[in-house]
Amino acid sequence: MSVEKELLERSGGVCELCGSDVELSVYEVAPSNGSAEQSVLVCSTCNTQLQDLNSVDANHWRCLNDSMWSSEPAVQVVAYRMLSHLAAEGWPQDLLEMLYLDDEVLAWAQSVPSDAEERVPTKDSNGVTLEAGDTVTIIKDLEVKGAGFTAKRGTAVRNIALTNNPEQIEGRVNGTKIVLLTKFLKKQ
Ligand SMILES: [Zn+2]
Repeated sequence: MSVEKELLERSGGVCELCGSDVELSVYEVAPSNGSAEQSVLVCSTCNTQLQDLNSVDANHWRCLNDSMWSSEPAVQVVAYRMLSHLAAEGWPQDLLEMLYLDDEVLAWAQSVPSDAEERVPTKDSNGVTLEAGDTVTIIKDLEVKGAGFTAKRGTAVRNIALTNNPEQIEGRVNGTKIVLLTKFLKKQ
């Protein structure tokens, strides 16, 4: 029997997190061996938000109020991680305190660093956190290797993009998209 079939049977054909039956798919709960025991059947809404924690709509996850009591460890793990991610909202923290996990399940839930811990913030020369879309000022003349111009001190760079490296951002200077070191930038 395929994992999907097994999960459909286990869940009764609905999302194991919110109960929706829209576009169900298998979500592997990392680190997962791909088995049904280590996967959860999720709807498209849950899946999208699990894949991109920045797109999480906290209200949607009030469904965990019910589903966190599932007897399936994989569902418990997803609930634990999502509630931890949303803890700042208040109510998820309350639910988290009620959620009792076996030692083994808790270890699984905590085995993947949460998004917040993993991501090192990108900061400017003053230690101010930069976000995508911010405007920054260049605080030192910078020779742009490869582009053949100097990005002048005082130049404003609008609508920056963050990179995987917290010490670098991307922005347009003289119409050219370049990577800039955050230590030479100041947020406006
Ligand atoms: Zn769902």
